Amino acid sequence: MFEIRPDEISAIIRKQLSGYQNEADIYEVGTVLQVGDGIARVYGLSKVMSSELVEFPNDVFGMALNLEEDSVGCVLFGETSLVKEGDVVKRTGKVASMPVGDAMLGRVITPLGIPLDGKGPINTTETLPIERKALGVIQRQPVKEPLQTGIVAVDAMIPIGRGQRELIIGDRQTGKTAVAIDAIVNQKFTHTEEAKRLGVNPVFCIYVAIGQKSSTVAQVVAKLHENGAMAYTTVITASASDPAPLQFIAPYSGATLGEFFRDNGKHSLVIYDDLSKQAAAYRELSLLLRRPPGREAYPGDVFYLHSRLLERASKLSDELGGGSMTALPIIETQQGDVSAYIPTNVISITDGQIYLESNLFNAGVRPAINVGISVSRVGGNAQIKAMKKVAGSLKLDLAQYRELESFAKFGSDLDASTQRTLARGARLVELLKQGQFASIPVEKEVVTVYLGTSGLLDTLPVSDVKKYEKEFHEFAEQKYADIYKNIRESKQLSDETANMINTAAKEYMTIFQKV
Ligand code: ATP
Ligand code: MG
Repeated sequence: MFEIRPDEISAIIRKQLSGYQNEADIYEVGTVLQVGDGIARVYGLSKVMSSELVEFPNDVFGMALNLEEDSVGCVLFGETSLVKEGDVVKRTGKVASMPVGDAMLGRVITPLGIPLDGKGPINTTETLPIERKALGVIQRQPVKEPLQTGIVAVDAMIPIGRGQRELIIGDRQTGKTAVAIDAIVNQKFTHTEEAKRLGVNPVFCIYVAIGQKSSTVAQVVAKLHENGAMAYTTVITASASDPAPLQFIAPYSGATLGEFFRDNGKHSLVIYDDLSKQAAAYRELSLLLRRPPGREAYPGDVFYLHSRLLERASKLSDELGGGSMTALPIIETQQGDVSAYIPTNVISITDGQIYLESNLFNAGVRPAINVGISVSRVGGNAQIKAMKKVAGSLKLDLAQYRELESFAKFGSDLDASTQRTLARGARLVELLKQGQFASIPVEKEVVTVYLGTSGLLDTLPVSDVKKYEKEFHEFAEQKYADIYKNIRESKQLSDETANMINTAAKEYMTIFQKV
């Protein structure tokens, strides 16, 4: 599944290059000095650009990465065994590019834009270079619109704004991909008529899978289809069995596609799953290119590898159309070690992180977010007022709960106020548990958080909290639909609406406790 043949890679590169080949000013040839492990050292291409495509005989293409004094180091795409010492190498004058356009949506492609889903060629002619310079300060503005993930814990406490970079970090199998996929699925609402009426702009999504098993990617694609999210999503994959150069360029291709939407005044969300594997692929390439290894054997510029990628996420100024590109990079840690080289790099580049923990995950707290050390440095500006209002006390209650949690075992020996804090905290933790593909709209999130922080659930047994919440929403949507409508339309939580929630919650509590 999702395999590409080397000759297909060459064919698509050739197509992208049509019109560029052999123009007089770039006509320059070199010879292969040495070849092996998917790398060729070439002599004589003195004017070649970094990341320019070069052509070898037998329909093989390469990309110039190392520009040294007397030779050029190239990575090879395609059937690399066909390249021999002494072969002639031609410059193409064009850097590696990615086809862009609305036609890319709904497709599964490789980092160079080759379709993998068997749905035929992609109907687009525009291409953009995969490596582009990030915009400067003047062209940007601070984030101001929310990017709703539909996950209550995230939207309330670690809010993400359009144009922000928020890292998802955690050990293997802690639900990192799940958070990202839920965020994609939740954008479905932004493509509806209702969203248009409310002035919420659509968000186009790009999921970049790097170094994963093809079967895992296929499952993600199937889930996106199932949840109706593929219509506005492109999946770019360079799987574990693909050559390292493809894994290395995949995130840049994703960023280029995201920028296409951004630069046209639209909004995009790009997921890089995950950058640890991209760094490993880059390390492999660099070692083969004989770049000096540094800390953890990564080359010296591995920080730049990720910073130039993540700097491209941005919210454009109004003069430039006000589009945005939000990035959710994913990093896998080993044994929760966030102080390893790559994790610290990416933490310092991004505007915050969602930290997922194995022991929470195993204890059934899912999403397994450690709210104590997860932060969002800019997203709060983009939160709607109603959410901001209720989230403040949520954070406070949970922080107090964490401090006292270890005393919980003393039970009734504790004073009343400590017991109250513990009871509240336990219910909030329960309330924030949320399954996969169970994202909820923001007005519902506000009501959920309000139920917890206003103490309306304090008398319920912890095990009933989720059940009550679910049934309460069903009840209130029938009888008190104005609650949701008011929050959705005004983005505020007025005192009247809060009172209405109180009334509804008490009314339903009597029904709930009778059954
Ligand atoms: P990997 O390190 O292998 O990439 P990951 O951190 O991306 O793993 P996921 O694949 O997202 O983790 O999730 C691991 C498992 O946990 C999956 O089987 C997924 O269905 C389940 N899971 C994730 N989030 C939730 C959730 N909120 N509720 C229930 N199950 C979940
Ligand atoms: Mg994953």
